[in-house]
Amino acid sequence: MEKLALFGGTPVRKAPIFYGHQYIDDADIAAVEQVLRGDYLTTGPWVDHLEQKLCELTGARHAVAVSNGTAALHAACYAAGIGPGDEVITTPMTFAASANCVLYCGGIPVFADIDPDTYNISPQSIREKITGRTKAVIAVDFTGQPAQLDEIRSICLERNLILIEDAAHSIGSRLSGRPVGSIADMTTFSFHPVKTVTGGEGGAILTNDHSFYEQMKLFRTHCITRDKAWMEHGQAGPWYYEQVDLGFNYRLTDFQAALVSSQLDKLDRFAARRKEIVCQYNEAFSKEAGLIVQKELPRADTVWHLYILQFEPERLKASRKEIFDALAAENVVPNVHYIPVYYHPYYQKLGYKKGLCPAAEQLYERILSLPLYYGMSDGDVKSVIQAVRKVVAHFKGGEDK
Ligand SMILES: *Cc1c(COP(=O)(O)O)cnc(C)c1O
Repeated sequence: MEKLALFGGTPVRKAPIFYGHQYIDDADIAAVEQVLRGDYLTTGPWVDHLEQKLCELTGARHAVAVSNGTAALHAACYAAGIGPGDEVITTPMTFAASANCVLYCGGIPVFADIDPDTYNISPQSIREKITGRTKAVIAVDFTGQPAQLDEIRSICLERNLILIEDAAHSIGSRLSGRPVGSIADMTTFSFHPVKTVTGGEGGAILTNDHSFYEQMKLFRTHCITRDKAWMEHGQAGPWYYEQVDLGFNYRLTDFQAALVSSQLDKLDRFAARRKEIVCQYNEAFSKEAGLIVQKELPRADTVWHLYILQFEPERLKASRKEIFDALAAENVVPNVHYIPVYYHPYYQKLGYKKGLCPAAEQLYERILSLPLYYGMSDGDVKSVIQAVRKVVAHFKGGEDK
């Protein structure tokens, strides 16, 4: 058996590889440069262009581009009318922003447990968490696989709840043939550099609802309007504008919009490569004792954002921490997505108790995210597989350390 780098052996790779990395080409650079040489740095034609492109991609009627994915979630909660005392059900297996957006509006995040096979929010658990104060559900497409939005949608229709989909991971994915962005009442994207397409920072909300659309457009620019003012204030001059509610500055710059737009031209390539890598990983790991791969629903067509591998500590004679350290020493540096949101000290301070969502908590103890991004070479993929096999072989053998 090969000696682990952790114990002085030779690492599988010379240069470290991490879980995500953006891919920027000459077309992206040219798109940004073109904007920088033009007249508009912010809220110009590229924002409109990006919104139109997102509508074409998803089949949604309206898109609102904003400064990041968190702002997108905040805008969606605002449009959904979330206010003090309103409960919003979401998953703990996500980035904190999926729940923070509820708190921004004075609402109460309520955590439903996950399905232990897909790791997405469980429709049954949503049902159990609904009360008279529940106003909305925020379903997260964890790792890029759409949540069971068909079932969740029927629950929402039945109980008169608004369905928000946090699709920060899932641009380009489909469920039963329907593109993400056309299924929920509002769907939010993030264009952070680790996501499938990037603008440096950036986000957007997709919706078919005209009223949500208008509210979110106002919200991203302080809830200031010039339109209504012309009609109702005949006395006022061309300088006149009105702030009609409390909004924010969540605008996206034009050069970020141009970058996202240029990246979207490569989405098919990005998607194909990510699927290919996941296929190779699954092939290598699914039959290996001590490892569990994430299950994909037959009706899902997933553009994978994360590759999550589950380790069975009882079969590997090693803790997740030891496996993490061993892989990192091989220069395959994993990550963990995610720490359950309510474990964070801020949520603990708000009174959330550990034990709320047992399936999510158990999963958290057993997972690592492996490198997955468009720019990975075949050699990179092979080295990740080799490192995992090496580490697993060691810990399965229970060899002396
Ligand atoms: C990245 C991410 C966000 C936040 O997006 P930002 O653009 O970083 O603000 C929200 N939800 C999930 C699930 C994410 O992964």
